[in-house]
Amino acid sequence: MASTREMFREDAYLRECAAKVLAAGEEGVELDQTVFYAEGGGQPGDSGHLTLPDGSTLTIVSTVRTPDGRLLHLPETPLTGLSGLAPGTELKLTLDWERRHRHMRMHTCLHLLCSLIPAPVTGGALSRDKGRLDFDLDQGLDKEAIEAALQRLIAEDHPVGEQWITDEEMRERLDLVRTMAVAPPLGAGRVRLVEIDAVDLQPCGGTHVARTGEIGGVHLGKIENKGKHNRRVNVLFTET
Ligand SMILES: [Zn+2]
Repeated sequence: MASTREMFREDAYLRECAAKVLAAGEEGVELDQTVFYAEGGGQPGDSGHLTLPDGSTLTIVSTVRTPDGRLLHLPETPLTGLSGLAPGTELKLTLDWERRHRHMRMHTCLHLLCSLIPAPVTGGALSRDKGRLDFDLDQGLDKEAIEAALQRLIAEDHPVGEQWITDEEMRERLDLVRTMAVAPPLGAGRVRLVEIDAVDLQPCGGTHVARTGEIGGVHLGKIENKGKHNRRVNVLFTET
């Protein structure tokens, strides 16, 4: 089966690329390659637009992965028929970079937050303005201390890198998995570990900034009590 080359995994800073249509229809547009991240792991799917050979553009509101693993770009209005997107059509993709960059910043910030609280993560989500992680924890948390530590890790400007390991190595290192709600992405033969130098190492398929300083100003929102064993920690960007 044809599948989409996920260029955002190779370089999260790519803002546009050329691509060919593999399939297009009511459910969305499938391309041979893309810079659009597909919704997953609590990170929203990317938006932007496609530029067709005749110069017209098609607004993409999100990108998703189907249960059988196909990556679909979702037009603002579902397509009826091929709408000029016959298989083989060459087009250009342009990412809504401002929105995606905020996702990258917040996503990387959540790795830092995770490193500061020694408890299993049971869930998480982010948007362009905020992020949150749920911890399996039955004691209170010191909001001011966590906020200060988070801001210090950002200011220290740690490099963010990656290592690739095999599925087999991943199975032997399940201690690295911090987010119980998101299974490590096994099955592709290799798994990407995201490493924040001297701070955090965990398998992750999301998009990250290159250095923690790029996250910018953040502060903690409420720490919510979501049940006996669940503390939800909210983080917000300081400038909106
Ligand atoms: Zn990540």
